Amino acid sequence: MNIALIAHDSKKELMVQFCIAYCGILSHHDIRATGTTGKLVAEATGLHIQRFLSGSQGGDQQLASSISCNEIDLLIFFRDPLNAKSHEPNDINILRLCDVHNIPVATNIATAEALIHALERGDLDWREYMRS
Ligand code: PGA
Repeated sequence: MNIALIAHDSKKELMVQFCIAYCGILSHHDIRATGTTGKLVAEATGLHIQRFLSGSQGGDQQLASSISCNEIDLLIFFRDPLNAKSHEPNDINILRLCDVHNIPVATNIATAEALIHALERGDLDWREYMRS
């Protein structure tokens, strides 16, 4: 499965801790991430991560493109709900595209944990059947 990660600055440490906790599960999948998020997670976990550009340099749009091309099976997007960012419209577009393409997406740790356990159980395998 192709899993995408993106975290706003105030949520990057949370993303790192999440990936450390679930490294064993994530290591069985292909991980992609926006630039800085991917760098921090790779350094902390040793996971191989295909990195897009940094979000501010267009990495969020690369991620949106991958979602549109049906290359992403699960998105974990830890957003900062309190501080709107200058590229907020891109964030909304990423979430919109997940809805368009019926891609499971978590925007907080509670949902992310539910989805990672679903992933481990094989509950999301239908995504791969849909792609093949
Ligand atoms: P980053 O992108 O992982 O490169 O920081 C995400 C963002 O811009 O919020």
